[in-house]
Amino acid sequence: MKDRVNILGVGFDNINMKEALKYGLGLFSRQTKSVIYTPNPEIVMAAYDDKDLKGNLNQADLILPDGIGVVIGSKLIGRPLKERVAGYDFIQQLFEVLKDTDYTVYFFGSKEGVAELAVKTMQKKHPGLSVVGTWNGYERDDEKVIADINRVKPDLLLVGLGAPRQEKWIAQYKERIDAKVFAGVGGSFDGMAGVVKRAPKIFIRLNLEWFYRLMKQPTRFKRMLKLPLFLIKMLLEGRKYK
Ligand code: UDP
Repeated sequence: MKDRVNILGVGFDNINMKEALKYGLGLFSRQTKSVIYTPNPEIVMAAYDDKDLKGNLNQADLILPDGIGVVIGSKLIGRPLKERVAGYDFIQQLFEVLKDTDYTVYFFGSKEGVAELAVKTMQKKHPGLSVVGTWNGYERDDEKVIADINRVKPDLLLVGLGAPRQEKWIAQYKERIDAKVFAGVGGSFDGMAGVVKRAPKIFIRLNLEWFYRLMKQPTRFKRMLKLPLFLIKMLLEGRKYK
C-alpha cells in the first residue's frame, strides 16, 4: 500500500522516483486500466474549486508531486513528501525500462508536428522504444483520436494537453479507450522535441526550474502567481485535510 499525503484535498503518493517507477511498471500487468497524474500547485488550486477535477485526480493510481511547491506545501503541514517526482523525468525513466519490453506507447497532444518530433528524439535516446501512434492536441473531433488509438491499442497512452484539459479528457474517454495505462504529461512533448528547453541541471538541482521557465516564457507569470496563493492556503488550512 502507498501512503498518500493530502494536499488541500488532493492525495499525493509519498514515494520517491525509484518506488514510483516500480509501482508504475506494475500497472502494466494489471487487468484493469490505470491512470497516472503529476499535479503541480496550480492544478491543486484548480481542484480546490472544482469537485469533479478533485475526484478525478484522487481516483488515479499514481499521483506524483510535480513541482517543488507541492513538496514545500507538504512540509508546511508536517507531512513531508519524500521528494519531487517530476512527470517529465518519470516518463524518461519509464521509457528507459519500456524500451526493453514489448509494451507500446502512443503520444497524444501538443501542436501539429511536435509529438512526431518528440517520438524521433525519444527513440534515439531510448533505442527500442515502441511507439505505435501520434495525434496533435488541437484536434477538436475527439472521435477521430479515439478511433486511431483503438486501432493500435497502446499499452501506454500519453496525453499532453496541459492540465486540467488532459485530466478531463482522460476521465471522459477512459472507458472507451483500449489502452492499459493513461498518463497526463502536460507540455512534456514540447520538452522532448526541444521546442521548449528544459532548465539546465543547476536550476533543477536548486529547485529553481520554475524560475527558469518563467524567464523563458514570461507569459506564464499569471499562472505562477498561483504558487504563493497555494502556499498561503496550505499555511492557513492545509492541516484541516487528513
Ligand atoms: N495543448 C494541446 N491542446 C490544447 C491546449 C494545449 O495539445 O488544446 C498542449 C500545448 O501545445 C502544450 C501542452 O498542451 O504542449 C501544455 O503545456 P504546458 O506547459 O502549459 O502544460 P503543463 O505542463 O503546465 O500542464
